[in-house]
Amino acid sequence: MSDTKIDRTGKRLNETTLIRGGTVVTADNTVRADVLIAGEKVIAVAESLQAPVGARTIDAGGAYVMPGGIDPHVHMELPFMGTVSVDDFLSGTACAAAGGTTMIIDFAIPAPGQSLLETYAIWRERARKATTDYSFHMAITWWSPEVAEEMTILAREHGVNSFKHFMAYKNAIMVDDATLIESFTRARDVGAICMVHAENGDLVFRMQQEIVARGIVGPEGHPLSRPPEVEGEAANRACQIAGIVGVPLYIVHTSCRPAMEAIARAKLAGQRVFGESLVQHLVIDDSVYRDTDWRRAAHHVMSPPFRAPEHQTALWGGLQGGTIEVIGTDHCTFRTDQKAMGATDFRKIPNGTGGLEERMSVLWHHGVGSGRLTPSEFVAATSTNAARIFNVHPKKGTIAVGSDADIVVWDPDATRTLSARSHHSRNDFSIFEGMRVTGAAAITLSRGTVLWENGRLTPLEGHGCYVHRPCFGDTTRSQAIRNTFTMPTAVERQEFVP
Ligand SMILES: [Zn+2]
Repeated sequence: MSDTKIDRTGKRLNETTLIRGGTVVTADNTVRADVLIAGEKVIAVAESLQAPVGARTIDAGGAYVMPGGIDPHVHMELPFMGTVSVDDFLSGTACAAAGGTTMIIDFAIPAPGQSLLETYAIWRERARKATTDYSFHMAITWWSPEVAEEMTILAREHGVNSFKHFMAYKNAIMVDDATLIESFTRARDVGAICMVHAENGDLVFRMQQEIVARGIVGPEGHPLSRPPEVEGEAANRACQIAGIVGVPLYIVHTSCRPAMEAIARAKLAGQRVFGESLVQHLVIDDSVYRDTDWRRAAHHVMSPPFRAPEHQTALWGGLQGGTIEVIGTDHCTFRTDQKAMGATDFRKIPNGTGGLEERMSVLWHHGVGSGRLTPSEFVAATSTNAARIFNVHPKKGTIAVGSDADIVVWDPDATRTLSARSHHSRNDFSIFEGMRVTGAAAITLSRGTVLWENGRLTPLEGHGCYVHRPCFGDTTRSQAIRNTFTMPTAVERQEFVP
């Protein structure tokens, strides 16, 4: 055909696909409908659609048809703590596709002193091999007038509308309050959202030293040095600063009740503050650090650490009650030989766990399967809310006419046992080893192309595209800054004159 367009991976772009007989679930509703895809876009969602001549048909009878997952918190091939995380943009996005996720947002992290634009270019180059779509948050790890200028350029010209700040990892990428305030203010002015890793890094640093001085050097020292209060303090501080500056804030990997309470308070005060938790924290508790097998304990070293069971109960409540909008993974995988860098000192164990492939199944099983979440709430937490918060909705995060055909055909009855032997990550360990879950991705389509079908992965290197995320418009911003602290006017100030 003369009008056939071929993309750079050799795929024909004008293919038509009909997904027939399924139940379409979005964050808004659940309806019996067929979905017609032309090329990379959804062009019709309705009952009893006819397949055009030559169209491929996917039978979704008995299955749910949902927006592909969006994980807005992952780290592929990240240089960190003296090594590099093992899943790269290809193996990592292949894991994503196998689990029903069709878009990731990674973090471009400059070394202190490094240009943001240079860092962005490095991440763009690394990500070219991705098989699903991707985008980047930019981390702010230092401050100067050049950083401020580059934030503006990234936001206006490169589709980066979110800036991440590490309040932990002292003497590495941690920023102090002065930098937080400068960066939050610039982000507000360009119409971007701020993000924080909320742990008080000075406290962690001090407690690590004390714990090591007491002779505790194994993985059990890791959670002792980062108790819930350390996270709660930082979450509260970030919320209060964001409220005074008047910028929307997204708190990543909320793991405990004190941090959730800080988010809930800010929401009640009218701030635009969003909470993310990790699927790992919902289902795994801190008993893992008392495992006598060093390897198993070390593989659970991540920050914030796994928590006592009462915090898991609180997180589920926060997710059901709306304090937590997004369930991500912080997918950042290190093999056993890398974890062994901290064999005699837990402070040197590279922080991170995997979960990108397992996220949707684990949340479905423990969330929908238990009755805590409806299928629509599941879609909101795994896809739609992230799309809205990071401003790519309705291109992503829903199934509607004009949306990208990022779709997962979900089999609610498929049961499997999670294991490092069968996962697609390059890691040699799975923190979900042996967990039996019901509910899995049967077919995953990325912009109309099947990447995963009936247990078979067909990743296309380079199929993934960079997703521009525009700045928030004036309407969003006026809401974002409605809680802004305002300086008293001259007249008001006179009242304070003695
Ligand atoms: Zn992270």
